[in-house]
Amino acid sequence: MAAVMSVSAVVPPAAAVARARTLLCVPATARAPREMAAEVAAAAALGADLAELRLDRLAGFAPRRDLPALLAKPRTLPALVTYRPKWEGGEYEGDDEPRFEALQLAMELGAEYVDIELKVADKFIKFMSGKKPENCKLIVSSHNYDNTPSAEELASLLAQIQATGADIVKIATTATEIVDVSRMFQILVHCQEKQVPIIGLVMNDRGFISRVLCPKFGGYLTFGSLEKGKESAPSQPTAADLINVYNIRQIGPDTKVFGIIGNPVGHSKSPILHNEAFRSVGLNAVYVPFLVDDLAKFLSTYSSPDFAGFSCTIPHKEAAVRCCDEVDPIARDIGAVNTIIRKPDGKLVGYNTDYVGAISAIEDGIRATQQTHSTVSPLAGRLFVVIGAGGAGKALAYGAKEKGARVVIANRTFARAQELGNLIGGPALTLTELENYHPEEGMILANTTAIGMHPNVNETPLSKQALKSYAVVFDAVYTPKETRLLREAAECGATVVSGLEMFIRQAMGQFEHFTGMPAPDSLMRDIVLRKT
Ligand code: NAP
Repeated sequence: MAAVMSVSAVVPPAAAVARARTLLCVPATARAPREMAAEVAAAAALGADLAELRLDRLAGFAPRRDLPALLAKPRTLPALVTYRPKWEGGEYEGDDEPRFEALQLAMELGAEYVDIELKVADKFIKFMSGKKPENCKLIVSSHNYDNTPSAEELASLLAQIQATGADIVKIATTATEIVDVSRMFQILVHCQEKQVPIIGLVMNDRGFISRVLCPKFGGYLTFGSLEKGKESAPSQPTAADLINVYNIRQIGPDTKVFGIIGNPVGHSKSPILHNEAFRSVGLNAVYVPFLVDDLAKFLSTYSSPDFAGFSCTIPHKEAAVRCCDEVDPIARDIGAVNTIIRKPDGKLVGYNTDYVGAISAIEDGIRATQQTHSTVSPLAGRLFVVIGAGGAGKALAYGAKEKGARVVIANRTFARAQELGNLIGGPALTLTELENYHPEEGMILANTTAIGMHPNVNETPLSKQALKSYAVVFDAVYTPKETRLLREAAECGATVVSGLEMFIRQAMGQFEHFTGMPAPDSLMRDIVLRKT
């Protein structure tokens, strides 16, 4: 197998290899057999394909008493029986012999799969002395809780596991960075070509994509927990999210991959929004969170055309400008890219949909209160005060200037306010000066700091007294939907525009860049209001 780093080289031609659907396995991890059986029934109701019975989790487990009940037929789901010892990350602390006896009994009772660790696989197979039932598949597994070895080492591990006579290979490693997962994808693709069934997963939050994207690369199965808190490995998604959010039943070799690059990114609601939007237009695509430390390394590793587009959030929006081959002129002026598209020739093009989202939300908010249908922007000629000089501050300042507003920047760090003010040709203020700033009526205020964001919902960037000078107030913060700033501004009689509107519109802009289709406006709005 070639030791290439880039996933660009490993994606197989769509129809090259006949393949079975990747199975969804729910681990049953209860402490009592009766509860474990109930977990299996719940997994079946969720739509899982099989359940993993983690015997090492059972308190006071007595194989001859408990296994016949756990494996009694008819069963709601096929069973994968695992009795993981402590030295491989499980909870069993005794000798191998009683453990092997329990696994052998599970086979005799009709377990469809039994998992045995590579370190003792030969010993177990000898113990079985050829008595493995035909319909039981032996999974020989290796778990690395420290890192993901090199491609060569993974290939050698694969060969070692195959040499035991395993029916299914299982390799689980740990990601120290997201690019580690690309080596697991290479192994999956290699196994798919050779028709070797393999479970290849990379643990922890930087390995999350391995759990969602393994159907694309031909993984035999992926694990999804019954619910949050019942994971059997770090950063395992819930089965419900795999089915309902990531739509894994539809993921195949042709599925295009999109996602949000950030750090942290686990809290992002963008996967819920974009996956449902993709589904609504019948697009064969999936949108995942990419927890990225080094943007340039990430983009050069996942360089296949199948990794087709990315949203970019904190702290990568500025690095994204440097990483793109082409950048939209306004995004370049703003100095921040929040959307990256891979063109058919492989070139990366960067855009900024934050500014369009925010500015159009404010314009429409003002238009809704006016009688005119003028095509001139309602921002033209207005005094537009931006609080904040970070990514969102720059986007709002450039956007407002583009529309002909006279822009003023106020920021905690005055030097940054001056810097942005100089760039866009507007004055800078300290936050203290802003309190008494009232040169004219009808001013517009845009908060682009995180002040007032959950959980600090009682904070506000400007006093209610000072708010009386503004006719329109926008807040980029959207958790909560109605911030203290917006509530007090409305009480002062201002037109208020929520950051949620910016969030929806920047996402719609991204959808249009990703797909070339008009965004499903009301659906995306509905998802944001319902699910975020
Ligand atoms: P950023 O680049 O880190 O900039 C943060 C800005 O907030 C800086 O100007 C910073 O001032 C200021 N700031 C931070 N904490 C402050 C405090 N306690 N008091 C006064 N000023 C403070 O972040 P960003 O990307 O611009 O995001 C800013 C906010 O906008 C976040 O809440 C984010 O969620 C929101 N946002 C919303 C959307 C949306 O779709 N609605 C999109 C993008 C961003 P210094 O220069 O002094 O550090």
